[in-house]
Amino acid sequence: MQTRRVPLRMCTGCGEMKPKKELVRVVRSKEGEISLDLTGKKAGRGAYVCPSAECLKKARKARRIERSFQCRIPDEVYDAMEREMEAYTPQPAVRKEDSEN
Ligand SMILES: [Zn+2]
Repeated sequence: MQTRRVPLRMCTGCGEMKPKKELVRVVRSKEGEISLDLTGKKAGRGAYVCPSAECLKKARKARRIERSFQCRIPDEVYDAMEREMEAYTPQPAVRKEDSEN
């Protein structure tokens, strides 16, 4: 019997368990650089967060990403990641709050 199990990861923002591919990885490179891994191809240690700026902000507030990487993350890095997350739309079909057309 073969059961295909979806690997679940916990969002560092809301704490919900979700399939890995529905989450966005925050990656810490060997050089200690923190960034969003929207392509899923970056190397390094990862922490997971929902593709929403809100969850990223929650994770920031609770310092869960920092705890997971055991390092400090500068404000400008968080700000850049939040902007990137706000611009990122995983599925165009998802309801848009500020549709322009
Ligand atoms: Zn979340």
